[in-house]
Order: sequence, then C-alpha cells, then structure tokens
Amino acid sequence: MMDTQEIWERSIERVKAKVGPAQFKMWFANVRCERGASGRFVLETQDKFQADWIRENYADLLRQTVSEVSSDNLEVEIAQRANGTSGAESPAATPPPALKRFDDHASWNYTFDNFVVGASNQFAHASALAIAKDPGRKYNPLLIYGGVGLGKTHLIHAIANHLTAQGGLAVHSTTSQDFEHNLIAHLRSGTLDEFRAKYRKVDVLLIDDIQFWATKERTQQEFFFVFNTLFERRRQMVFTSDNPPNEITGLHERLISRFSRGLMADIQPPDIETKVAILQKKAEFFQLSLSDDVAFTLASRITSNIRDLEGCLTRLAAHCAFSQEPITAEYLQAHMDTIMPGRREKPSPDELVRAVAAEFNLKPADLRGSRRIKTIALARQTAMFLMRTVIGTSLPEIGRLLGGKDHTTVLHACRKIHSLTNSDDQFRQSLGRIRKVVGYA
Ligand code: ADP
Ligand code: MG
Repeated sequence: MMDTQEIWERSIERVKAKVGPAQFKMWFANVRCERGASGRFVLETQDKFQADWIRENYADLLRQTVSEVSSDNLEVEIAQRANGTSGAESPAATPPPALKRFDDHASWNYTFDNFVVGASNQFAHASALAIAKDPGRKYNPLLIYGGVGLGKTHLIHAIANHLTAQGGLAVHSTTSQDFEHNLIAHLRSGTLDEFRAKYRKVDVLLIDDIQFWATKERTQQEFFFVFNTLFERRRQMVFTSDNPPNEITGLHERLISRFSRGLMADIQPPDIETKVAILQKKAEFFQLSLSDDVAFTLASRITSNIRDLEGCLTRLAAHCAFSQEPITAEYLQAHMDTIMPGRREKPSPDELVRAVAAEFNLKPADLRGSRRIKTIALARQTAMFLMRTVIGTSLPEIGRLLGGKDHTTVLHACRKIHSLTNSDDQFRQSLGRIRKVVGYA
C-alpha cells in the first residue's frame, strides 16, 4: 500500500499536468500534505488567501485526483498552515509585507477621506457629508440607494465614523438584518418595551440595506414605530437600499411615503476615471505600487461594481506576491483569466429571456409576446423580476421588452415573484438555476 507522501506525490504530478506549470507554481508548489484524523488528507497552505483560493477553485480536482491515485474515496481538507511551522524549505512562498497589509481589510476604514468622489456618487457624497456635519437639521431621513458594490455601506459608515469621532451624540449604526434579529430576540423574550426604549434614546440612527425588509410585516411595523418616534424628535436617520423605495417590492406604502419626505440620493456605476482613482487610492493606502497602465486596464475590464474591482486588485497583488514579480500590465495580461475570473458583465436582457424560457420549457418569443396563458405569464413575470434585479433594467423598458406591458404591470409582477421566492422552495430553485445559466448566481 502506498503511504501518504507517495499518494500525494503522484497526485500532485497529475494536478500539475492538468492545471499547467504556471498555475501549479503559483498555487501548489509550497503546499504540504499531512494525514489527518480518520485518514483524511490535509493539505496545508502558506496562508489563508491561498487556502481559500485552492478550496474555491481546485477542491474537486484534488479530491478526485487523490481518490483515483489511492483507489480509495478519500476526504481532502485544505487548511492554512499553523503558525510557526511554515516551510523554510519554500523560500519563494513567503509573501512580501505588502500583501499582508493588503489582506488586512479591517484597516481600510470607511471614511470620507477614503471615498473618491466622481460624477456617479457626487450627490450622495455631498448629502452624506452635509448630514455628518449637521445631523438632524437638514434632510430627514436621508436614503442612499444604488446597485451592489457602489459605495452605499461605505458612505453610511463614513457618516457614523465622523459623528462618533466628534462625540456627544448617541449614534446607532446597524444593518436591516441585525435590526430584525434584535427585534425578534426581544419579541421572543417578551421585552419589546426594552427594544423600543433603546431606540428612543438614539440621536442618530443609521440602517444599511433596508431592502431586506420587503415582505417582513412585523419588522416594518416596528420600524415604522421607531421611525415616527425619532422623526418627531428631529433625530437624524440615514438608510441605504438597493433600489428607490417605490421600487422595493413588498415595502409598505406608508414607509415609502415616509422616505419620500426626506432626501433620496442615488449612486450610479462609476465612470472609468473614478474607477481608476479608486484603485489608486486603495493601492496607495496599502502601499502597493500600481501604474496608471495597470489601473486603467483593470478599470476598463470591470464594468461597474467597485467591490469586484477591489477583488481584482487584491488578487493581482496576491499573484504578484506569490510569484515575486512586480505588478505590471504584462503580468496582468498573462494572468487575466485567474485575476479576473468568471463573468465580467451583467447578462443582456436577451440572454435572460432565453435562460428563463429554457427553464420553463417555452420559446423566448412566448415571453416577448403578450399571450396570457398561465405558464407563459409566470415565466414572463419571472423574466421581468430578473431583468429588474439582475440587470437593473427600468420598469417601462422591461414592459416594452416583455409583452408591451405598462410599468405598473411590471412592478406588480416583480412584487409577485418576489413573494413567491419567499414562499415556494421549488420556484426559488428554478430561479437559482436561471441565475447560474446567465453566470450571475
Ligand atoms: P455597497 O454597500 O453599495 O454594496 P460598499 O460600500 O460595500 O458597496 O463598497 C464596496 C467596496 O468599494 C468597499 O470596499 C468600498 O470601500 C469601495 N468603494 C465604493 N465606492 C467607493 C469610492 N467612491 N471611493 C473609494 N472606495 C469605494
Ligand atoms: Mg452594502
């Protein structure tokens, strides 16, 4: 019988053949293998980043290969090497200090100083800053809305950080989910009074991602109560959501009307100059040297989401650190596929329609037409919902593309599908499959 090292050595040869020498050197050259409890294979990496990466990208390949080689169904575990035992035998594997700093996301503060202002977020930034400087007097509430990864959380935290640093006010910053969990805990223990009392004492209330309350009756009801209490006392409130309130399916009319009393500021996807400036800010903060050339290439490949943009910069920095090469445009070009993996752009409306039609065993033309047979109607409504939530297509445009419906019909469809996703497991799975097909799971 082969021992652990033998199995590993043979496996790793096969892995090398499959992934190619460059990838192999980057991700596997310094991996060590131990035999863990109950015979499982434990592969130890240099650090967490490497372990996560291997787990995400190569776990299946490794399990398969090790099982083939050993003719046994072996479990493979990928873990970061415990401190102090890191391999002196692999000098190239020690990442330079720049990577360590870059990995330390906790140190990247969400402050106004770190926020790059461009045309796409200027209004939201100015509103947030005005409120941070003079809370409770100007606009109440402020609602910042916009797509994923565009800086909403950054701005709401910047306000909180600014006010906390000033001192003197009871600032309460939370997420919609935490608000809800906290409420449920108090309801369970019969201490709703305490919950209400806590919020009565707040001077500035900031809640991130309120779209998650759509269709949460009890939470909205209690929030309404908190809102009114604070509003009457002229306490500042700031919220964020992924869409304007009247387009959040399942949000109560009375909440929508409360929000519209205040100021609503949207954040749009950034233009290329803003993206480049954000990358440079981030690189500077983490002391990475990033040429304009590289920044521009990254910025032009990632269409909108700033979080994705940062992810690419992190991976690029990590790659260069592993391979001990400087961050250059040539390096980026050569490793584009791993640094910018997966889908770069949102699907087109056309792709979505095709994917939905396939899932429902219909023809795309059925969804584009206006026939009202039940199965077609449901598929069409699903496509409407996905266009809205995945692509962000406007309601009138969706109506135009799918059966010539008006925007209220589309809004109604989105609400209906949204509540279906909460109540119907099978339907939710269908949605999941469609999202996968369009590369947007
Ligand atoms: P959202 O809450 O809108 O999904 P986040 O606020 O979490 O997005 O932003 C995602 C990432 O992008 C964060 O790391 C944030 O610091 C960064 N970011 C977004 N906008 C800017 C900006 N204008 N300047 C600097 N960093 C930004
Ligand atoms: Mg956020």
